[in-house]
Amino acid sequence: MRSTIGVLALQGDVREHLAALADCGARPVPVRRVAELDAVDALVLPGGESTTMSRLLETFELLEPIRERIAGGMPTFGSCAGMILLAREVLDGRPDQRQLGGLDAVVRRNAFGRQVDSFEADVAVTEVAGGPVRAVFIRAPWVESVGAGVQVLATVPDQDSGRDAGGPDVGRIIAVRQGSVLATAFHPELTGDGRIHRLFCDLVRQTAQAA
Ligand code: GLN
Repeated sequence: MRSTIGVLALQGDVREHLAALADCGARPVPVRRVAELDAVDALVLPGGESTTMSRLLETFELLEPIRERIAGGMPTFGSCAGMILLAREVLDGRPDQRQLGGLDAVVRRNAFGRQVDSFEADVAVTEVAGGPVRAVFIRAPWVESVGAGVQVLATVPDQDSGRDAGGPDVGRIIAVRQGSVLATAFHPELTGDGRIHRLFCDLVRQTAQAA
């Protein structure tokens, strides 16, 4: 059976995610209200602006319902701003910025520094076959630290980070997975390479089969 995958459609690059999900055989639907959330098997939190989305989540009374669904095991994928929303804790966020949770990680907002607001890199992603993924970073966060249950899927070298400390290259974490929660600091919805969305769609299918 085809999974129904929602894309949070309050702000951000919603259309691009809907198209990428359709390409991997899911039934994608925009989600703006609780009734729409209730109808989905999984949810994508798009790239955009996490502080704006946080505010709109409160206005549209979606913050608690989405939190509950994620806590209840709904597969969720966040790209960029979406990753920020999923994090347990945000560094350099706005004080009134709210979290959906689901990802036991500390995420630093706008981490890649002003001088390189946007850049692209080819990154190897664990669980994604077929060579590196072209990753587009736009005022992107990185993952500062992860809890024990979080798997690191990809890093970029420190010298690409705009905050090269000059010491040993530690690499910055830019893709993670915790059970059925997937998050990337970059925007796979913008490149036409469907492999990250396919990874998420597979995860949604596996979760449905296990239920
Ligand atoms: N800097 C943005 C934020 O704080 C994220 C940027 C993006 O999603 N491209 O939400």
